[in-house]
Amino acid sequence: LDVIAQVEPRVAAAIGQELTDQRESLKLIASENYASPAVLLAMGNWFSDKYAEGTAGRRFYAACQNVDTVERLAAEHARELFGADHAYVQPHSGIDANLVAFWSILAHRVETPALAEAGVKNVDAMTPEDWERLRRSFGTQRMLGMALDAGGHLTHGFRPNISGKMFEQSSYGTDPETGLIDYAALRERAREFRPLILVAGYSAYPRRVDFAKMREIADEVGATLLVDMAHFAGLVAGKVLTGDFDPVPHADVVTTTTHKSLRGPRGGMVLCTEEYAPSVDRGCPMVLGGPLPHVMAAKAVAFAEARRPDFAGYAQQIVDNAQALAEGLQKRGVRLVTGGTDNHLVLMDVRSSGLTGRQAESALLDAGLVTNRNAVPADPNGPWYTTGVRLGTPALTTRGFGEAEMAEVGDLIADVLDNTQAEGDSKVKYRLDEAVAGRVRARAAEIVGAHP
Ligand code: PLP
Repeated sequence: LDVIAQVEPRVAAAIGQELTDQRESLKLIASENYASPAVLLAMGNWFSDKYAEGTAGRRFYAACQNVDTVERLAAEHARELFGADHAYVQPHSGIDANLVAFWSILAHRVETPALAEAGVKNVDAMTPEDWERLRRSFGTQRMLGMALDAGGHLTHGFRPNISGKMFEQSSYGTDPETGLIDYAALRERAREFRPLILVAGYSAYPRRVDFAKMREIADEVGATLLVDMAHFAGLVAGKVLTGDFDPVPHADVVTTTTHKSLRGPRGGMVLCTEEYAPSVDRGCPMVLGGPLPHVMAAKAVAFAEARRPDFAGYAQQIVDNAQALAEGLQKRGVRLVTGGTDNHLVLMDVRSSGLTGRQAESALLDAGLVTNRNAVPADPNGPWYTTGVRLGTPALTTRGFGEAEMAEVGDLIADVLDNTQAEGDSKVKYRLDEAVAGRVRARAAEIVGAHP
């Protein structure tokens, strides 16, 4: 920090303050974690200065031998960790990994057959008119993904993301009674809609997904099965999600972030079968900027960490902790979507407290509990104000929290919800009892202080 402070002291101060804030706050954001010092150091070094477009051994730049080493190591660890045929470790984030997946599926399933049908042997010899004819012949392809308010992600064909413009989209939801994915309705929708891509995976669904069933449905309608395991990759790596619930043996293409439950650097990755590997490897420069060698080095370190036996214990503890948190909340009468959890997250429905998700999120933050608001199925307040608050346990589990602490965190959350009132009709303003806020803040600080 001293070196940085000599150039721009305000940046050094912000970095230092971020460490203090993360240390002192009770981080319940389901998509965040704490990477190890080895991962952070692998990211902050001279690799950042290197250009390395292409893939290991086939670069558009000279002197990439050390980048080749770390890219190969990251891919090898990823293949071993997840039992995948192929790993592409260049995507800069989860959204980028999904974009690589979409383009590679389009290339493999639409472009290559269209070129073959048109008798094109040499794409470099095609005229602009030939290209235009080919482009039109693609038509608009279809994507079927999980509805946003059921917990899907906006990259799965929704308007705020380019996927909503690239594809004609339809979505599947959850059963209104149980909150669980309605596989029969999904099968029906897939039969009618006949998507090119069936997307499974979520940001806010607190249950396991049956990927074997998803595979059956995809096969029945001729769809490519794409699983976005950004949220639960750590549970797959730690062998908590196995058999029908492990996406890798069932999907054609699996995308993920590397920084959530997997506890690596900020980044993304694509795993796929041999069939999709050549088109996936064209991700850069098709849709990605030059690879970030320093982040690939950190991915290799994180995947090596996840291959150690203790990572399985960590992954199981994430789920045990989420269940203890869920039970703690339910004992206090807090309503949970699906009535509980069997992964790393819990989704509270706060309407019985008379609050929006936005008000609950703000009140919890005032009391030192960092969460994020989230839509619930058929949310009456829409995706901005919401009716839900999402909680996750990967970060606190890294700090060493166990079930007893998580049950107490559930109590603290319920104390805040019970002592917060909406102001009039406002979806934003609220009153939180100051004494309760102070007590919760002090206790939260004590618990995190005991797990530095
Ligand atoms: N996919 C899912 C399911 C996610 O939850 C997220 C992040 O929230 C992403 C993709 C995007 O990841 P990133 O923010 O790294 O682009």
